[in-house]
Amino acid sequence: MGLKYSRRFLALVFIVVFANFHGLNYAEKAFAAPKYSFIQEATSAPEVSFYDYIVIGGGTAGCPLAATLSTRDAKVLVLERGGSPYTNTTKIRMENFISTLTDDSPNSISQSFISEDRVPGNRARVLGGGTVINGGFYSRAETLFLKEAGIDEALANESYEWVEKKIVYKPRAFQWQTAVRNGLLEVGVLPDNGFTFAHLNGTKTSGTLFDKNGNRHTAADLLEYANPTMIKVYLHAVVHKITFTTKDGQRPKADGVIFYDANGGRHIAYSKHESNNRSEIILSAGAIGSPQLLMLSGIGPAARLRSLGIKVVLDQPMVGREMADKPSNGLLIPYPTHIPLSLITVVGINKISNYFESFNGFDLSDLSGSGGAQPQSSNPSQEALANSTTNQAFLVQTIFGPISKGYLELQNTNVSDNPKLRFNYFQAAVDLRRCVSGMQTIINVVNSDSLSRFRFRNMTTQDLINMTVNRAANLRPRNPNATTSLEQYCIDTVMTFWHYHGGCQIRKVVDRDYKVLGLDQLRVIDASTFSFSPGTNPQATILMLGRSMGRRILQSRRR
Ligand code: FAD
Repeated sequence: MGLKYSRRFLALVFIVVFANFHGLNYAEKAFAAPKYSFIQEATSAPEVSFYDYIVIGGGTAGCPLAATLSTRDAKVLVLERGGSPYTNTTKIRMENFISTLTDDSPNSISQSFISEDRVPGNRARVLGGGTVINGGFYSRAETLFLKEAGIDEALANESYEWVEKKIVYKPRAFQWQTAVRNGLLEVGVLPDNGFTFAHLNGTKTSGTLFDKNGNRHTAADLLEYANPTMIKVYLHAVVHKITFTTKDGQRPKADGVIFYDANGGRHIAYSKHESNNRSEIILSAGAIGSPQLLMLSGIGPAARLRSLGIKVVLDQPMVGREMADKPSNGLLIPYPTHIPLSLITVVGINKISNYFESFNGFDLSDLSGSGGAQPQSSNPSQEALANSTTNQAFLVQTIFGPISKGYLELQNTNVSDNPKLRFNYFQAAVDLRRCVSGMQTIINVVNSDSLSRFRFRNMTTQDLINMTVNRAANLRPRNPNATTSLEQYCIDTVMTFWHYHGGCQIRKVVDRDYKVLGLDQLRVIDASTFSFSPGTNPQATILMLGRSMGRRILQSRRR
């Protein structure tokens, strides 16, 4: 043991001394990014290449899927439109959660959009996908979801563990999260489930992608599981189109992918099915990217595609339908003294499936999409007390489902532009009823003893409601009764929870093996296949889905 361990000890001493010498807080120590030989800029890609599996989108589902597929005798290509999350790991630390989302530059790792509902949103544009820009909270799905998604429970559990071993951490006990946890228990969101990844009624602490130093770990880290000799990942590889062969009345067969590199160079990667009928193209471009790319490739509602000059491969009216996002509503809570910031580590789940979560220390108004302009406060004297916009917490609730659904439509044929999106928040009465009931619980938690020491004494719950109506991050008009009716409050202050799903749903666009109906050699594996958002927060399940489907595809390859 001697030499090996004393070397490790010396290395550790060196790191600590180096960090102190440079005046770094230990907690801010940078994350040592893995070095992958197989990740390259797409400018280095050949004009024409051949692979067994081509995965479009190196995101939350795409990375575990590709890593798994590469572990057998198959050559795997991943095409990711964004860059590497390891280029600047400071940018993706916990404290930079909001500033990343508000970076609207062309090379930003977050692409923002405003839905037809007048609610701003964000989609990832980076290797690792949503796991690089999200809140990091990790919680598994309910068993109902596994049945719905056709995933065997044992395989799901193994896959969750495979992910957790590499990138999921037990969080530190943050002051604000502990107060919220106690508040939820105090108002009856019971039982106390302690620390668990499982989806259980009651209050629990769950996992996070942030390690104890606040460094983020992402789906891209799962590529450490890959066989480096069998996988290639191209960055800044924007896929414009999937190509198909259509021979003598047979079903169209996906056979290639056209992508462009950062210099505008055109490339085509073919799946090898002339020699091997098990090759496939797998679309994992996310709930917005996957339906968009199917349509741009000629699979979607025929009349709309023709009106944009797109050649129809398959008339499939359900592509882009049933798009949904979990609505989020809550209360802003300014507090008098500075406390360390935190992202979500605690969740409460009540019997009617309201989910309660919170974060603190961030200026939410930056997300409003109004360029930082603030509506006038109805109570300026109280707000003056909350002199720092980061001395505030947001206690938020969302709902199971949701039942309300919208749509995605192409606005043009440019893959880099956002399509038109509408989520129809609260169109279904049951969603609104759940929101009102959840808001009542939020008000109770805010008034609990556990939260009392974080409140300005002379600031009432009504003051918080008035303030949140003014500051909620959306561009929706405010109705005069938004401060007096919780129904109107829910409608007017709704924000995204960023849990977009639908557009390529199981049984409507893909079958239970995630194969696109009516076509061969093409699957969609990501959040676009969901009919409801799994668990309280979906990333655990999307990561698990990537791994599980990788295992299933390899099994069918052996047959
Ligand atoms: P993504 O991870 O988005 O992957 C799609 C990938 O495809 C992206 O990398 C994209 O760049 C790439 N792509 C798209 N189009 C193309 C193209 N044409 N060519 C090449 N590549 C392309 N979930 C949680 O569980 N916990 C949280 O705390 C949480 N917080 C969130 C906070 C924010 C701000 C956001 C945005 C999301 C949050 N989520 C959270 C949701 C979760 O992160 C997403 O649901 C999940 O990451 C989506 O996974 P996906 O594989 O479907 O898509």
